[in-house]
Amino acid sequence: MKSTLLHGATVVNSDIETRDDVLIRDGTVEEIDRFVEEYDEMIEVPGTLLLPGLVDCHVHFREPGFEHKATMKTEAAAALAGGVLTVCEMPNTNPPTVTVAALADKVRRSEEIKDVDIRFFFGITETIHLSTFRELMESTAEEAVRLRRRCCGVKIYLDHSTGNQKIQDELVGDVFKACADHKIVLVAHCEDPETNALAAAQNTRTNVAAHSLMRPANSESIMIERAIGHAKKYGTHLHVAHLSTEGGIDLVRRAKNDGLKVTCEVTPHHLFLTTEDYEKLGTLGKINPPLRSHKHRFALWQGIIDKVVDCISTDHAPHTLEEKNNPEPLKAPSGVPGIETMLPLLLSVAGGHWPHPTEQNASCPPFTYKDIVRLCHANPNRIFNLGKSEIEENKRPDIVIVDPAATWTIRNADMHGKCAWTPFDGWTVKGRVTRILHAR
Ligand SMILES: [Zn+2]
Repeated sequence: MKSTLLHGATVVNSDIETRDDVLIRDGTVEEIDRFVEEYDEMIEVPGTLLLPGLVDCHVHFREPGFEHKATMKTEAAAALAGGVLTVCEMPNTNPPTVTVAALADKVRRSEEIKDVDIRFFFGITETIHLSTFRELMESTAEEAVRLRRRCCGVKIYLDHSTGNQKIQDELVGDVFKACADHKIVLVAHCEDPETNALAAAQNTRTNVAAHSLMRPANSESIMIERAIGHAKKYGTHLHVAHLSTEGGIDLVRRAKNDGLKVTCEVTPHHLFLTTEDYEKLGTLGKINPPLRSHKHRFALWQGIIDKVVDCISTDHAPHTLEEKNNPEPLKAPSGVPGIETMLPLLLSVAGGHWPHPTEQNASCPPFTYKDIVRLCHANPNRIFNLGKSEIEENKRPDIVIVDPAATWTIRNADMHGKCAWTPFDGWTVKGRVTRILHAR
């Protein structure tokens, strides 16, 4: 097998950035050095960055059941365009991933997708799903072992979100216990349905901005606090999905200081947008948890700087434009696509360019290319036990080649995902994926 030398780039891993050449043979990195003399062919990539393939630990690919919004194939194309080579997919499809048959069906479908590695969360909303999950984890049958390898964790919704998958209250403790017993991470969507219901009852407005008032910040922190309580009681690894508030960051910081196994992720839309963006986005900015104020967005970036935040994940949740443009804004579905735009947005910040079009005087938080690898590769890879590699000798990493100086404008028309729109349409970003080298 021929060896290929990548020449002229900077290798970016989670802990180190070096100006080195990389020699690859049949997917394996043989040598990383300033001068490699022996090789069969050379690819000149001057001025580029080599990143390990990104991991997006929170996506909704909609298949099966909602193929009019997205399919594994269309969203895998979007992932690749955004430098994402591994994804963890959520259970709120139709049928939902709450049975072994549904998991097996998704695994079978994902085997058709050769260039993106798709792993699946198992959902639990009823007692029967919990017993199924325990059986799947305990079985020694070949099929169960095979499916377990593709299952990255358990997902529970502590409020109704898309798909009406809220867990029965009395079951919550049992699910935390089961995940602790089987040493599998429990991902929780944390919003308190009672707080939301109260806020919704008090709301008299009909415009989309009311969505943020109807799902207030304390709804998230109340539920995160409760979930951390369960994690503490049972010794569960709790991963807080799409954390969006200052209060949430404080609770996770405290839990980590207390030595609990609590991790969290934040999304690009909460890192780059605020409630001020409703004016331009309308229902395209409707998501759960909702857009927050500048204060909360600042706290999320502070959480990234302090390493309270473990992962940046997209919560990629495509809906068609027709669905989003509901004449009654508060009835439009919640969720935005994001898998294709995460990396260019983050590269922009690392490159010193704050990409928000109406915040051109804003300065960038201190954020580096290494941070991107830490938050979008190393940490999710470790938390969800995905077995991926950084760019190191004798490893088989997927490699994303990025031109950090390429300035371009994100356009709906250029998106690869099936719904073909993005909340970041018209944003000028700095940094672009130019090539992908697959390990497999
Ligand atoms: Zn989600």
